[in-house]
Amino acid sequence: MRPARALIDLAALRHNYRLAREVTGARALAVVKADAYGHGAVVCARALEGEADGFAVACIEEALELREAGIRAPILLLEGFFEASELELIDAHDFWCVVHSAWQLEAIEQARPSKPLTVWLKMDSGMHRVGFFPQDYAAALARLKALPHVAKVVLMSHFSRADELDCPRTEEQVAAFQAVREVAGQGHEVSLRNSPGILGWSEVPSDWVRPGIMLYGATPFEQAHPLADQLRPVMTLESQVISIRELPAGEPVGYGARFIADRPVRVGVVAMGYADGYPRHAPDGTPVFIDGKPSRIIGRVSMDMLTVDLTDLPAAGLGSRVELWGPNVPASDLAARCGSIPYQLFCNLKRVPRVYSGE
Ligand SMILES: *Cc1c(COP(=O)(O)O)cnc(C)c1O
Repeated sequence: MRPARALIDLAALRHNYRLAREVTGARALAVVKADAYGHGAVVCARALEGEADGFAVACIEEALELREAGIRAPILLLEGFFEASELELIDAHDFWCVVHSAWQLEAIEQARPSKPLTVWLKMDSGMHRVGFFPQDYAAALARLKALPHVAKVVLMSHFSRADELDCPRTEEQVAAFQAVREVAGQGHEVSLRNSPGILGWSEVPSDWVRPGIMLYGATPFEQAHPLADQLRPVMTLESQVISIRELPAGEPVGYGARFIADRPVRVGVVAMGYADGYPRHAPDGTPVFIDGKPSRIIGRVSMDMLTVDLTDLPAAGLGSRVELWGPNVPASDLAARCGSIPYQLFCNLKRVPRVYSGE
């Protein structure tokens, strides 16, 4: 059996979820969209269900997968419905629904659900992707409140730059949101904070928070941060050395001869490649851990294999365990070296079996 696998620590997931609640004192929807950022939505939701206030996903297909697996907690559709016909399923399965556009509001006005809906009304406070502009928000809220089949409206918005701790944009977004809320939205629960908002912006009012990447133990920040340091990585991507060769100085390794030995090198070949989701752009020198000791990538990452430097690890050999990311190689550090973010590394995970612990 190919030794590549992703170990998933569900106890770490629960620890990170609790941290989101503790630092905010708010209720937290665990964001498990995109198959829980590659960690497996059903297993992660089951691991959290005993304590989670609810879950959030990107679309009804993801929500149905959770319901069909027996998850009974509230599930929020972060982009609402894509077609009005989904409202029947939203009603049947008690999904909570974001409303971010006028056409969705109209569809809700037309709907006749069997029981009242819970709606999260989205404001575009500065992200400029979806949501009602501040000047249109009070009117949208009033229309929802006038509907007998809308039980509850939560006021929400989303930050565009909360990971930049010195950037004034987050405060501007909060101010835009609060200005409307104070006039039109008093008495409603609010939800603004994603992971960087939770960890980095303690002043932002929150009845509900929406942790995503932090649940999986990756920091959303580029610099060290005391709260982010308390996160525990959930996924360890690992494999083994499957071949070894000694090369004299001057010999190239791998496609395109990107790496050329500057001294006699001992090269280890690892069963892991970009088809597994490991970033092909990892440069020479990218850290890996081999039997618990630091080493580095040398040569281009191929589809199914990559090459590492074993020259200074004489004890390493066939079958040595290689950590590509995890507790010793933070996914956010690796991502930064590859021009990416941990979100994308996790979501790109493919082919590799997931092995769970900490149920
Ligand atoms: C994905 C998403 C989140 C979670 O974001 P993280 O940065 O992963 O915490 C929160 N809110 C909305 C609306 C989202 O789409």
